[in-house]
Amino acid sequence: MFRQILGQDHAVQLLNKAVLNDRVAQGYLFHGIDGVGKYTTALYFALALNCLSASEFRPCGVCASCRKFLAYEHPDFFYIFPTPNFKMSSNGEIKDATSLAEYERYIDVKRKAPWMDFVWSGATEIRKESIMMLQHRLDLSIHEAKYRVCIIESADQMNASTANAFLKTLEEPPDNTVIILITERLPALLPTILSRCQTLYFNPLPRKVIETMLHKKLDVENAMLRTASLISNGNFKTAFRIASDDKSEQRLIAKTFLELACSGNELEFHQIMTKSRELLTGGFVSGMINYLSTFINDIVILKYDPAGITNVDYQDLLMNISARNDEIDETAYRLLTLLEDMKRKIDGHVNINLVIVHLFYSLFRELKAI
Ligand SMILES: [Zn+2]
Repeated sequence: MFRQILGQDHAVQLLNKAVLNDRVAQGYLFHGIDGVGKYTTALYFALALNCLSASEFRPCGVCASCRKFLAYEHPDFFYIFPTPNFKMSSNGEIKDATSLAEYERYIDVKRKAPWMDFVWSGATEIRKESIMMLQHRLDLSIHEAKYRVCIIESADQMNASTANAFLKTLEEPPDNTVIILITERLPALLPTILSRCQTLYFNPLPRKVIETMLHKKLDVENAMLRTASLISNGNFKTAFRIASDDKSEQRLIAKTFLELACSGNELEFHQIMTKSRELLTGGFVSGMINYLSTFINDIVILKYDPAGITNVDYQDLLMNISARNDEIDETAYRLLTLLEDMKRKIDGHVNINLVIVHLFYSLFRELKAI
């Protein structure tokens, strides 16, 4: 099953060696950006450490132990992650029905599609109760595992008091217990936590790997696979979101916006603005501006290296703009600066409509191309 993890050869080889030689650290820290396989690797490592198969290709994924881990039903597997403020008893039971339902939905997503985003009902952090519960459980003896495994996701999301409580566990973990911390923000962790773990870096995924993974999971056109993998910057979650959302409304509206601005079609622009008023929040327009920036970049790239553009599916439109603009480098520079400035204005709570109207007429002045 380790072979299913693509693009992280260094980390996987190291962990596989630890399993084969039975030389396992008590604390690991997996770090790297979101959406690169840190969690799945941690889970498969837990399986491999306990897999009952005699094969050297552990984990097998089908033995009794592997199946229990994959179902999140292994009594020696502890998975701690940031949650809203759930009411929890000292042995980790969630009493409140709404909280329990939300918790179960999260585990279900994690089990079936860990690359999907999950939106919680409230602000999340790793609760002190979760750490206390873990400590209580680790004090008891191991049920059946060779190695008891505890995965702590987003380990940086502990407040100081929780982190200090957790440090005690990390300093003196019980025998045959492996603790795997996962984080996107290495510098946010206490140095005392870092120093007690073997650190493993997970790199952003290569473009080809993202395309291969998307191709397995989604039935979408090659141009979309390429666009999603390029825009995602090595983050499979982002790539999946872009490729699976075929409306991808921010991107579509950004493209329509560019078309209308280039043709100077004010009437239609104002009609669309009115129709989309509900949609045009600060976050949405910021996202739109990100897409506009990738369009402007492509307009320049088309001049030098047509095969290198990101928005392959909009090539005709972008080529049209690029070809008709003699001074596209200078124009693009001014526009990219303007787009950055507009994003800052949105963050500074300037009226969104003013920002959009200003953008429309600026693009019109600079790119009257169609
Ligand atoms: Zn197995």
